[in-house]
Amino acid sequence: MYNLEQFQKDLKCLDISLNENQIDQFMNYYETLIEWNSFMNLTAIVEFQDVLKKHFIDSLSIVKAYEKIKTESVKVIDIGTGAGFPGIPLKIAFPQIKLTLLDSLQKKINFLQEVSARLKLQNITFIHGRAEDYAKPDKEREKYDLCVSRAVANLSTLSELCLPYVKPNGKFISYKSEKITEEAENAKKAIHLLGGKTENQIELNLPDSNIYRNLFIISKIQPTPKKYPRKAGLPSKEPL
Ligand code: SAH
Repeated sequence: MYNLEQFQKDLKCLDISLNENQIDQFMNYYETLIEWNSFMNLTAIVEFQDVLKKHFIDSLSIVKAYEKIKTESVKVIDIGTGAGFPGIPLKIAFPQIKLTLLDSLQKKINFLQEVSARLKLQNITFIHGRAEDYAKPDKEREKYDLCVSRAVANLSTLSELCLPYVKPNGKFISYKSEKITEEAENAKKAIHLLGGKTENQIELNLPDSNIYRNLFIISKIQPTPKKYPRKAGLPSKEPL
């Protein structure tokens, strides 16, 4: 019923192999996304091949920056996951990861819970709340090997939202869709203050396309000082 030729090719480019069940899960995810998108705002991208490329393959492109997600049972948190990107595609393709999905909108969390029930995904924790509020020591602070985030904020703000979740020696990888020389320059101070160090950026085009992507990799080299993150709203209103 669906034409999966291009998707299969793209997966091969990323060196990812999926079994039939995983392919079914992606199709089920697509259908649930479109169904719920008719009564709530989840995505502007709805055409089948576009969703495969710009949501699914894009989410999976992280293998170019973090190969061990393919095999290790790393703890991963997706901050501002929205309709589940990149977190859900990562969980489908790499079911051994321990995934936490965080978003400040309850409706999106409801959608994600429905998706994971329909797809029978295991080991997902859902958090409804602001990233600033769940990075407290009695909550999720410094519990993750990897923090990911796509299309949530500029790198400076995002570093304050994300780095507190990362364990020392862990990584924060931001998905960007344009060149970010200036944005990266403006985030230098924040990254340093929060205990991070910029590793590098992996620039790529999504397979068989000219769609540019930039995976910006920050390592956590020191614990984040207690005063960060500041109270909800400040990281975006007054970036460090
Ligand atoms: N990552 C998804 C969604 C991007 S839209 C994608 O790439 O498609 C941004 C999402 O971040 C929204 O769902 C919004 O509710 C959430 N968000 C924005 N600021 C947040 C914060 N401070 N804490 C938690 N979620 C936040």
